[in-house]
Order: sequence, then structure tokens, then C-alpha cells
Amino acid sequence: LISKLPDVGTTIFTVMSQLAASYNAVNLGQGFPDFPMDSQLTDLVNKAMKNGFNQYAHTSGFMPLREKVAEKAAKLYQANINADTQITITPGGTYAIYTAITTVLQPGDEVIVFEPAYDSYVPNIVINGAVPVFIPLRYPSYSIPWEEVKQKVSPKTRMIIINSPHNPTGSVLSADDMQQLQDVTRDTDIFIVSDEVYEHLIFDNIRHESVLRYPELLERSFVCFSFGKTYHCTGWKLGYCISSPALMAEFRKVHQFNSFSSNTPVQVALAEFLQYEEAYLSLGQFLQHKRDYFLQLMEPTGFKPLPSHGSYFQCFSYGHMTDMPDRDFAIKLTKEAGVATIPVSAFYRSNGDHKVLRFCFAKKASTLETAAKRLAKAA
Ligand code: PMP
Ligand code: GLN
Repeated sequence: LISKLPDVGTTIFTVMSQLAASYNAVNLGQGFPDFPMDSQLTDLVNKAMKNGFNQYAHTSGFMPLREKVAEKAAKLYQANINADTQITITPGGTYAIYTAITTVLQPGDEVIVFEPAYDSYVPNIVINGAVPVFIPLRYPSYSIPWEEVKQKVSPKTRMIIINSPHNPTGSVLSADDMQQLQDVTRDTDIFIVSDEVYEHLIFDNIRHESVLRYPELLERSFVCFSFGKTYHCTGWKLGYCISSPALMAEFRKVHQFNSFSSNTPVQVALAEFLQYEEAYLSLGQFLQHKRDYFLQLMEPTGFKPLPSHGSYFQCFSYGHMTDMPDRDFAIKLTKEAGVATIPVSAFYRSNGDHKVLRFCFAKKASTLETAAKRLAKAA
């Protein structure tokens, strides 16, 4: 077999979660909450299954759920989205991103990827025979250097991938960034994948600049979301993509021969649950408290926090503490201090000396307290 992904090993999330389990470490690595999800939503799934919603859903998604998603997009982002032609429910946000990338890319196409980048983007590009063109985000704000973007755009550029709030850094795009993106892509045939799975996980009174707010951008975009991130049920693997009718028609050609449809009872339950706006509107504040509490707990450890305004991740630099590369240091901390994290170099393909670790703070207070205590002791 000739590997289609010769440079790919096991994802860092699997590696660190397994290591955490082997060493009985507190797992602040892989991004998932350790507190229970809303039992009203699990009850609704049970009800859907009992009511017989157990067969294939419509290939584009259970219509009442798509209608609720369109209503939400109108309310939050003033977007006029047609539930019939512009929304497809997918088995997770990652799947939506992969499908969008596969829908567009031809071999040899170039894709602008900002580093650090969520680790699925580059393999998704490479498996389609396309070529990632890397642009490092500015340290430590992790903002986009637009001058460099303009220089790197070529006749072969077919896509730009953006992600706000950003994994792993928690940086967020501003209205000015969206304006720049609009200027860079105007009169080109560049498509955009906008990874917005953390749309509600945004802090410090910052407004989420969804592509859905920008009709000109939406014409060329695939905007990807995840119910797993919003409702604390990452294991349910349900998300969706919003696009223009023309792009969505092509997206659906790929989707119908991949998974065809998505989990029916979960869609039926979410169609009812989406009416409780408070569940997602309160999320930013809920996680902002966790971020602030975690920052306070981490003070005695010596780790230096970098700015995080969204997602459920907080990065810390540690170059003043040791010269160890971040992968080695993350492994050492898991084995010896009993705290698992994610080395940020895992989100880079280009080489570089990144003495930064990512911590997931979507955890119970007691989990964060144990982790910080262990790190302070090891410092
Ligand atoms: N994009 C980013 C940046 C993520 O962190 C995640 C979380 N896993 C996803 C996409 C995918 O979400 P899902 O679990 O719904 O596939
Ligand atoms: N998105 C999650 C993270 O960044 C992990 C998802 C996965 O394990 N692929 O930690």
C-alpha cells in the first residue's frame, strides 16, 4: 500500500489521552468537558428513540433541526439562511470541514493555513492532493499577519481556512480581520472554510465575528459548527455546515456518498432543545469563569499565561522554566507531575521552537484544582 498520508501518525489527542490514562494523570489535554451535560437533552434523545426516530434521517438533516439552525443564524448573526438549500447536518464538525475541503480542492491547489492550526486541516488538504501554504500567526497575540497573506496569495490559491475562536490559542478574529479577508478574496475564486465550532465559547464581551454576518464572504464559504462543543457532548459527533446554495449542492454530493446522513434521535432531540437559547447564550460566561479560576490557580506554578479570549483552551509558555521541547515536556509532566496537556508544536508542520503547552479548562473546579496543585508541587 502506498500511504495517502505518509507524514501522519496517531493524533496528539489520542497519544496524550492514552498517556494520561496509563499514568493516572489529570487530563487537561484533549478538549472535552469532564462535567455532565444537560440531562434534559439526554431525556429528549431517549424520548426520540422511544417515539421511533431510529431510521435514516434525511440526507441533509432532520428538517425541523435545520429550521431551528436557520432561526438561530438569523437571530445571532442577522443571516438569511435557507434551511432547505443552505444547511447540512453532519456527523460532527470535523466531518463538515473534511467534506468542505474535499468538495473544493483539486490536486495542486494551494490552501492558506494559519499556524498553529487544528490538526485535521492539513491531512484533509493533503489527501486531496492539494498543497498547504503555511502562514504563522503573530506571537503572542496569534493574530493574522494580513500583509503576508496578500504576498502568499497566488493564482493557485483555492482556499483559506480560518478558525475563530481559535484552537489551540483562544485568539479571536475581529471585524477588521473579516474586512481584510473580504478584501483579499474579492474578485478571486478563493473559497473559505470557517471553523466556528467554538462560536459560543467567547469571553471578555467580545462579539463572535461569524462569516454568517458577512453575505459577501458567505457566498464563497463553508461555515462549520459542532453541537458536541456547544452542548458538552463531544461524543455525540453531530455538527453542521452552512454555505451558499450553489456550494451546498456540491457539498451534498460528497456527503451523500460518505455518511449519507447523521444520527436521527440526536437530531430530533436537538430540534426541540435549540429553543432553550439560554443553554448556548450562557456558555461564554460559564467558561470565562472557568478560565479566570484556572488562571488564578496556575499563578503559583510559574507557567506564563498567553492571551485566550475564547475556546476552552488556555496556553502557557514555559521557556523560562526549562529548555525541553514541548512534546518532551508534556510527556514528562504527564508521567512525573500527573498532569496531561497538549504540546502546541503538534499544531505546526513547519519547524520551530514552541515552548508552549495547551491546557483544556472545560473541567470541574476540583479537576482544575488538583492539576494546579500538582504542577505547583512539581515546579
Ligand atoms: N475544529 C476544531 C478547531 C476543534 O477543536 C474541533 C473539536 N474537536 C472540531 C473542529 C471538531 O468538532 P467535532 O467534535 O464536532 O468533530
Ligand atoms: N478538538 C479536540 C481538541 O482540540 C479534540 C478532538 C479530537 O480528539 N480529535 O482537543
